[in-house]
Parts: sequence; structure tokens; C-alpha cells
Amino acid sequence: MRAVAVHRDVVVVTSRLWQTTAVALRSGEEALLVDSPYFPDELELLPELLRQAGFDPLGLLATHADFDHLLGRLAFPDLALGVAESTAERLRAEPGAAQRELRAQDSSLYVTRPSPLSLGAFQELPVPGRLDVGEEEVELHPAEGHTADGMALMARGAGVLVVGDHLSGVELPVISPGGSLEAYRATLARLAPLVEGADVVVPGHGSPLDRDGALRVLDEDVDYLDALERGDERPKLPAGRASGRQREIHRENLAAV
Ligand SMILES: [Zn+2]
Repeated sequence: MRAVAVHRDVVVVTSRLWQTTAVALRSGEEALLVDSPYFPDELELLPELLRQAGFDPLGLLATHADFDHLLGRLAFPDLALGVAESTAERLRAEPGAAQRELRAQDSSLYVTRPSPLSLGAFQELPVPGRLDVGEEEVELHPAEGHTADGMALMARGAGVLVVGDHLSGVELPVISPGGSLEAYRATLARLAPLVEGADVVVPGHGSPLDRDGALRVLDEDVDYLDALERGDERPKLPAGRASGRQREIHRENLAAV
């Protein structure tokens, strides 16, 4: 697990699995944690790591309902989880899905956990909308396409945009069940002006990007979606995202669209 302060009030923690990111946002004494690392030792260490950095989260948020972003309560079992309405809908429609997928992933990696995942009573947040964190407002923007649900968070005061599973420098756009090419395109179009107004963009997987880096990934993703829509079986994939695993993701995307 790696922790980097991308702003005085924003720490990005990156898991050893899939470079999954968790983001602590702070204003004054108040802090929130968005998404989660994966491994039990990372989750166990997280509260102390954040505390030492001066972050004491009052609540948890998840960018979307995929299990790898929902593990915050394993680190902070007493905190409530806030999600977009679209994510709440998905969690209600697929009860136990995140827990099942987590167990399957754990068993494939031979990972054991001290306790099972419980999401508790999650809070639904209107998206588009705003959330107060201390003196700051965090904007919540819809970000569907990867899945049927999701939100991006813009902390304008800090210049930090958190985008869930979009704009990753290490992973192609993934069209999961419930996601769609059209919705993915709409999300990229919605994110473009937000990226323009950000100093740092934090994708759900991979390193935080500066504005130009994020705009480059956005362009590459638009080109990739064009190739996907054409049904191109061997498109030229962006640098850093052309591995065998990314080819496999492309084949899965072709089957999905
Ligand atoms: Zn993910």
C-alpha cells in the first residue's frame, strides 16, 4: 500500500491489488474516505495511517458498487457508507453480490479475513448534488458507463477530481454488466470540463494524474471506445495499457457491447 498527499487536504492510498485507490478528503477537522484498498493488512493499517496524517474520517463514500471499492467498513466498521442513488439501487437489486464477489476474489488469491464484509445501512446521496465536508463543498457528478451506477467527486477547493473506474492510466475502459458504451461516452463528455478545472485526477485504479495526463487518458479512451464500437478485434491500445490482461479486457468488452 502506498500513501501520497496530492494536496494538503487530500491523501491517496493505493492498494497492492489492481492499484485500487482510496482517497481521504479533509476540510478543517472533518474528513471523508472514498473507496478502499483490498488486502486485510492494508485495511487494518489504514485508520492509523490516516490518523498520523491528520485525517480522522467521519464517513465513508464509494464511487460505485463494485466490491473492490466497497471495503471501507472493514477498516472503519462504525462509519456509515454514503453512495449515489444509482449505487444504492444496484446494492438493493443485487443483495449480497459484493460479499459474494469479495469471497470469490479472496479465495482465488488465498486471502483470509478476520471478519466478513457488512455494508450496514448505506446512505443514499442525490447525484448530481453536493456534500459538505467541513467548510468545503464536494460536488457529486453522475459517472455511469463502467457499470449502471456511479459518481465522480469534485473537491474544487483542493482541485482534486475522483472519478471511480474511469480515466485510468493502467486499465482500459471496462464495460461491465449494467454498463454501456453510450453511458461511458456520456460520462467522459461530462468529465472533460471537470478535468479541465482540476489539478489532480484520481482514477479508481492507477496513479493520480495531473490535468494534462488525465486529458491524454480521456482522449485515448474516446479513441478506444471508437475502436470498440467498430468491433475492431485488434485495436492499437494506448501505451501502458496494451498487456495481455488488457487484450483480455478488450475481448470481454467486445462480447459485452
Ligand atoms: Zn474497480
